[in-house]
Amino acid sequence: MLVVMQRGATAEEIRGVVAAIEEMGYQARPWPGKQRTAVGLVGNDGKVDASRFEGLPGVLEIIHVTQPYRQVSREWKGENTVVRLPGGVAVGGDDVVVMAGPCSVESEAQIIAAARAVRDAGAVVLRGGAFKPRTSPYSFQGLGERGLELLAKAREETGLLIVTEAMDSEDVDLVARYADIIQVGARNMQNYSLLKRVGRAGKPALLKRGIAATITELLLAAEYILAEGNPQVILCERGLRGFDAATRFLFDLTAIPLVHKLSHLPIVADPSHGTGLRDMVIPMARAAIAAGADGLLIEVHPDPARALSDGAQSLAPDQFAELMRQARGIAEVIGRRVAEPAEVT
Ligand code: PEP
Ligand code: MN
Repeated sequence: MLVVMQRGATAEEIRGVVAAIEEMGYQARPWPGKQRTAVGLVGNDGKVDASRFEGLPGVLEIIHVTQPYRQVSREWKGENTVVRLPGGVAVGGDDVVVMAGPCSVESEAQIIAAARAVRDAGAVVLRGGAFKPRTSPYSFQGLGERGLELLAKAREETGLLIVTEAMDSEDVDLVARYADIIQVGARNMQNYSLLKRVGRAGKPALLKRGIAATITELLLAAEYILAEGNPQVILCERGLRGFDAATRFLFDLTAIPLVHKLSHLPIVADPSHGTGLRDMVIPMARAAIAAGADGLLIEVHPDPARALSDGAQSLAPDQFAELMRQARGIAEVIGRRVAEPAEVT
């Protein structure tokens, strides 16, 4: 970390910065320049609170030489993390893993129909919320544990793996009993007690980017899970709050190569929430694979017009089958493959 002094900072102000650095147990190295002096902080162990220096007299700005996150960074681990799921499914390797299903689990008939449809089209993971984070308290909140039981039943029938959201720390153990991947939703990306709990759950996690979160904040949120001893984390780009209501969110494609550059963790794309518009899902799914996404998270409903949540962005089964066809084509062009479902015995 470099503390850059203002032009004309006094010797006393520079001494003040040096003293603050030394007081925190680090070494200070002042570099006098022609225009201004910078003071280097040596021995940064990632615990330095830069805000301490920002308010000191004579300080112009702080320049971070290293990233604030550690275990999630490429510097920490050069090779890609491959999240290994039951049945040999791997996220972060050569395969593009497609996770699909309804926004919410609504009934046995609905989730079984959705599971069969997405499996027949080639998905390997079934998504579906049992605990739903809804903007309005009057909207459908999910079936809770009953929803988890129905997901388990769908897994039994189809062989699909399950990804589903834990909304509260208290739900994590329950969700972990049913899920193959525990989802942390966008609204909870910075719920640190939930992240810590998920870090101790012993199951892979899918961490969705918050609707106004920077990439650094996303990676620091993942750091919470890794710091608790769980390296099995899949990140998810799901769109940001933009200024234009033409789409529900602004799907940030650049996040995919950027995360790959900064981190060894896999990242999947959710063009359903990312756009909020059914017609935009297939083009953005194609783009996400082309950009290097390690998987897709797609909302599919057997009857989107009757969906209890997110119907406008949900694909009907035939549209999802078309998405899969196109996804295979794009994956092949970039030397990857869309993961195939295992044979059910
Ligand atoms: C979801 O996956 O249905 C969901 C609620 O997503 P997000 O947290 O990204 O809004
Ligand atoms: Mn949804």
